[in-house]
Amino acid sequence: MESSRSLEHVLSMQGGEDDASYAKNAYGPAVALALSKPMLTSAIHSIKLIKGSSSHLKIADLGCAVGDNTFSTVDTVVEVLQQKLALIDGGVEPDLELEVFFSDLPSNDFNMLFRSLAERVNGSSRKYFAAGVPGSFYKRLFPKEELHVVVTMSALQWLSQIPEKVMEKGSKTWNKGSVWIEGAKKEVLEAYAEQADKDLVEFLKCRKEEIVVGGVLFMLMGGRPAGSASQFGDPDSSLKHPFTTLMDQAWQDLVDEGLIEEDKRDGFNIPVYNRSTEDIAAAIDRCGGFKIEKMENLSIADYMNGKQEEFMKDPDSYGQTRANYAQAGLGPVVQAYLGPDLTRKLFKRYAIRAAADKEILNKNCFYHMIAVSAIRI
Ligand code: SAH
Repeated sequence: MESSRSLEHVLSMQGGEDDASYAKNAYGPAVALALSKPMLTSAIHSIKLIKGSSSHLKIADLGCAVGDNTFSTVDTVVEVLQQKLALIDGGVEPDLELEVFFSDLPSNDFNMLFRSLAERVNGSSRKYFAAGVPGSFYKRLFPKEELHVVVTMSALQWLSQIPEKVMEKGSKTWNKGSVWIEGAKKEVLEAYAEQADKDLVEFLKCRKEEIVVGGVLFMLMGGRPAGSASQFGDPDSSLKHPFTTLMDQAWQDLVDEGLIEEDKRDGFNIPVYNRSTEDIAAAIDRCGGFKIEKMENLSIADYMNGKQEEFMKDPDSYGQTRANYAQAGLGPVVQAYLGPDLTRKLFKRYAIRAAADKEILNKNCFYHMIAVSAIRI
């Protein structure tokens, strides 16, 4: 992960439809979507459109990935928008046309997205025109004043790059010995916080250009409670999260088995940061051009809570399930760094470590996601 350029070109969720694909492992974000749906619905109702000028509306889903979540998000937006327009114009205009832009980094599995889309919107049930837009949401993706509704779901916790400081060997900010920031020293956390702040402001500046006045921006992202130095509010989550304990152990196994040098492990960092509501409000304020309608901190129960008994009977299947979950999000980034063979070995070690850790298995845990709706003013 040498530079921002390389990250932008390798980051994506695991494509395809096998057991470790994002499409089969997106249950965490699915719960977050379900919980934030009422807020998304009222956000779209707050759109300010001029009567009679609303026959062609443009929607963008940034960081769309591919899978049921992608389509259920867009279906919600389209349905609510149609209801809203029916209220404004006293009945949906017969010539109302909706255009949806599915946007993600170029390495996203757009082929699968387009194939699934064809099955969904073809024929008489077609509700919108669709297009794919490859590129980073930390840059401009659309012409000025082009979009009416922009949503971004479970994506903005991914940073544009690893802060360079954390890879400076021997420096105070060097993140030695682990691949993420939970439990890292203050200097490392600060470097990530600085990057996260810069990124969010950049994201907002781009959307400020692209969204029409009166349009809606809805953001759902990994978060942490106010005032928490930890990336989680719940100490059990910090043990159980796919980027933490088991992941560090799996990398350490590769080092201990002589498969990689310690330096190689130390050069890998996961580009994710969970912001607090304060961090987000401050960035929106600094960018200007948006008014926050509502901001909520959602508590998301781990999908595997309550399945402990079942998994206790078959620890190997539990280990594999957790490894698939971790690989769905991190597979492509790890593979770009380690190559396919070592990547397979890493996730194999991860599965073995997970299967062996009954203590972690038995913990119920919760993650935070922050939902924000804002109007372009
Ligand atoms: N919205 C989906 C997917 C979330 S996974 C859902 O709710 O399930 C996060 C997605 O964000 C991934 O597909 C990843 O490729 C994308 N992403 C991460 N950084 C990005 C960036 N800088 N620009 C665009 N997309 C990005």
